[in-house]
Amino acid sequence: MSNTMNSPRNSATSSATSSATNSATNSPMNSPMNDTNPVEERIAFIGLGHMGGPMAMNLAKAGYAVTAFDVSAAALERASQAGVMAAPSAAAAVEGATVVISMLPASRHVEALYLGEGGLLSHLAAGTLVIDCSTIAPASAQRVSLAAETRGIAMLDAPVSGGTAGAAAGTLTFIVGGEAQALERARPVLGAMGKNVFHMGGAGAGQVAKLCNNMALGVIMAVTGEALALGVSHGLDPQALSAMMAVSTGRSWATEVCNPWPGVKPEAPASRGYAGGFGNDLMLKDLGLAVEAALQVGAAVPLGELARNLYALNSRAGRGRLDFSSVQQLVAGDGGPLG
Ligand code: NAD
Repeated sequence: MSNTMNSPRNSATSSATSSATNSATNSPMNSPMNDTNPVEERIAFIGLGHMGGPMAMNLAKAGYAVTAFDVSAAALERASQAGVMAAPSAAAAVEGATVVISMLPASRHVEALYLGEGGLLSHLAAGTLVIDCSTIAPASAQRVSLAAETRGIAMLDAPVSGGTAGAAAGTLTFIVGGEAQALERARPVLGAMGKNVFHMGGAGAGQVAKLCNNMALGVIMAVTGEALALGVSHGLDPQALSAMMAVSTGRSWATEVCNPWPGVKPEAPASRGYAGGFGNDLMLKDLGLAVEAALQVGAAVPLGELARNLYALNSRAGRGRLDFSSVQQLVAGDGGPLG
């Protein structure tokens, strides 16, 4: 297995560009797989939070033997009631595993899990497949991937899109970096948790692509909130304004689905006090990673930087754990919809 680890520009960005031109790179999960019986893979799952919990449960539902670990006893208990075997440590969970999946908060958790003396890589047999689904820095993903490669272990970075609803429904999108051969082996496993897979290039490319998506999302959500606040300040009805924008050139997921103005979309977090959804602090983390990735290659991301500051202010205003669309309150000022 070769794992190109040149500069991030070479290993992630340019390979993402070349593979994006290949029509096979976005393929439904149920395309023909390799000839190993997928359910024969024994899976270790580390990190059973909002996303990892339902993902592990969907694997168990699909017939996989899943052994899992989380530092939270409550999370472990919930998963074990849904057919997942609970292990007392990460090292115990990976004993005999052929595939290891991790879904942890941030880069430092992932590096601590795999690297170093007691790290999981030193417990895994050559030939094990590691799939990290956390959203982390591309450089971190590349570090872990390189360390894995030197031990004969293939690693994919496979951050997801689709949120907690997608994790529960098994309809996630996986945005993958790593070797094509490792991805072919992973497809049936990913298929038990999601609907689509995009292969973006070599190690770290999945993370780069995920950060690009979330940077655009963060900016679009903030400016949608700004536009709604402007209209309402002029006496417009936010519902009518959103309905017009949703079929005009200002349309987006923020106007049509996760509308940030309370009451416009009954199913949106805004209509339940911004509870649930994708946390402001997770968006803040992703924008920080996007800015960091931009610094690495000298890219200019002026709107991404500005958005990172807006979500930081929103967090400092006490809305860090609310859905990120609560940035609406910030951009509307004291006259915000819930103000
Ligand atoms: P979470 O905080 O709910 O879950 C993380 C879990 O990891 C927790 O249960 C925690 O106890 C566990 N954990 C932490 N350190 C551990 C360790 N060393 N060993 C074992 N378990 C450990 O987070 P989440 O919402 O599930 O998100 C996970 C990742 O997915 C993040 O990187 C996030 O950015 C990304 N993501 C989240 C969403 C979302 O909507 N929540 C959507 C897409 C991507």
